Amino acid sequence: MTIGPLQFYDENIPCLAACPVHTNAGAYVAAIADGEDEFAYLTARLPNPFASVCGRVCAAPCEDECRRGEIDRPIAIRALKRFVTERYGVEAGSDTYKKVAGAPLVDLPYSVGIVGGGPTGLSAAHDLRRLGYKVTVYEATGVLGGMMVLGIPEYRLDRSLLAAEIQAIIDMGVDVQLNTRLGADVTLGELRERHDAVFLSYGAFLGRGLDIPGGDADGVLKAVEFLLNTNQGFEVDIGENVIVIGGGDVAMDAARTALRRDAYESRTVESEFEQVAETAAITEALDVARTAARAGATHVKVISLESVEELPASEFELEEAINESISFVHRRGPARILTDAQGRLTGLETIGVLSVFDEDGRFAPKFDHDDVQLHEADTIILAIGQAVDVEALGPDGPQVSPRKTIQIDPDTLETSIPMVWAGGDAAKGPRTLILGIADGRIAAAQIHKAFGGEIQGQQEGQMVQLEQFHRLDDIYDRIGRIDVPTIPTDRRIGLAEVETGFTEEMARCEAKRCLRCFANILLDASKCVLCALCADVCPIDVISLIPAEEVGVGLVGSTALMFDERACIRCALCIERCPTDALSMGLWTGVGVPRVGVRA
Ligand code: SF4
Ligand code: SF4
Repeated sequence: MTIGPLQFYDENIPCLAACPVHTNAGAYVAAIADGEDEFAYLTARLPNPFASVCGRVCAAPCEDECRRGEIDRPIAIRALKRFVTERYGVEAGSDTYKKVAGAPLVDLPYSVGIVGGGPTGLSAAHDLRRLGYKVTVYEATGVLGGMMVLGIPEYRLDRSLLAAEIQAIIDMGVDVQLNTRLGADVTLGELRERHDAVFLSYGAFLGRGLDIPGGDADGVLKAVEFLLNTNQGFEVDIGENVIVIGGGDVAMDAARTALRRDAYESRTVESEFEQVAETAAITEALDVARTAARAGATHVKVISLESVEELPASEFELEEAINESISFVHRRGPARILTDAQGRLTGLETIGVLSVFDEDGRFAPKFDHDDVQLHEADTIILAIGQAVDVEALGPDGPQVSPRKTIQIDPDTLETSIPMVWAGGDAAKGPRTLILGIADGRIAAAQIHKAFGGEIQGQQEGQMVQLEQFHRLDDIYDRIGRIDVPTIPTDRRIGLAEVETGFTEEMARCEAKRCLRCFANILLDASKCVLCALCADVCPIDVISLIPAEEVGVGLVGSTALMFDERACIRCALCIERCPTDALSMGLWTGVGVPRVGVRA
């Protein structure tokens, strides 16, 4: 239930360690390779009530860390998750998820009020309800889902799938009050009287403006408002020429300061929160650009301070935007918004950016004020970060951080008010979807602890020595990553999902590329004769025999066998070659492997 520190052998599964909810991705990828799709689904679903949604739109930090990426390209983990959710997830009409996330067995005499029906609030609701709490979710709008429904365009996330995954949570017995906005329809004081505990998890839905001349002209829109309107089906007249100004809070703050003064002032991305917000702003800019193209704009341009290499966006996200004829203008700073005599927007003046970062990697944009360019535009959309409505907390609300988010203890998510927790955007600023889900799960565990419940520790991992071993294919390094299929660019109109998902053949083939990092090479020193055949055969030289005194172990003149467990690619050539069976393979059961499932 909790998401706590990992043991060494869990950490040594890079995909698992990188996932904020510690999904054991290697276990489900390997299960797909072995044709055990139901077990794969349950492994993906166990730590994540939004497994189907994440199969479509997760930022996939697991892929960034995947060990296969050291050889060529990472495993297409997210697309493989989609492959199994399409077979066993809610979108297939299946209730297989109940094997790992059924209704509660007991009802506890405590009630929890959750403010915000987005991924963080609903994940907390899911976990708390499973534990037996009465849960009521208060959602400001008329629809549950938060940024999943209001911020992510339909061409990336099918709405019926999202609705089904949300319904599965409501069906556990979660009460929902729609159109109930904190600060307007209900106060925090009233919620504290109604419930034994309150979790504040509402989104960052206030758009940030740009304080340059003309910044409030007619025709300048904030990204979040544009997405909220288009994703709810309202028509927004944006004309044919659209410019999207993209950049996170920190980048833009630094730019604004630099534009106003001759001397620049550097800003650092000081916390993990700010780093995530920078990335989220660029994803938002790309979503906005692609949505604008679907809303009828014929020329959509994204203008950024950063060069393409400096942008905190994934290669895939950028490629997809370029495929849809979105153009990019890098290394330009917005200087002035141009208007006609009626105050109506006509374009944007930019100046050149000489550099974005200083030698310490801090944001410190330097501009060339003589390098001026004019860009025509009917509409300018500002994708430069989102803010949290802290006024909604009222005068007796919890402490607010200098970043204008709810102040929390980062480990327990407790606020300054007893029995009130906060997480997700409300406490940390704009988050990725999976970080939001993780916060919901952490909050649920901490609230349970406050009521005397036990936070289940990390399941103790166990090393199981295998009789057999898994041998990587001889041509492992010649089987490249299979890219996720997408619909042709000329058919990308309207709301059809752009990604189409793997066929079975593709999925099995891609899954077989996984190195199975949960497998470990075990040495029985009593059988080792120090023949060094393992070192000879290792393709990446991670086993070596060296004089023991070099590493300060054993007797002078003896030999030590060195092995780098973090770099090993689990090919098993050394086991195969070892003449005395001193080497074997051990399977680390690890966290996140379903105990209830189709495989022991
Ligand atoms: S190779 Fe497989 S187990 Fe290893 S990090 Fe990548 S997906 Fe996970
Ligand atoms: S399994 Fe053995 S041979 Fe293969 S990379 Fe690891 S140490 Fe080297």
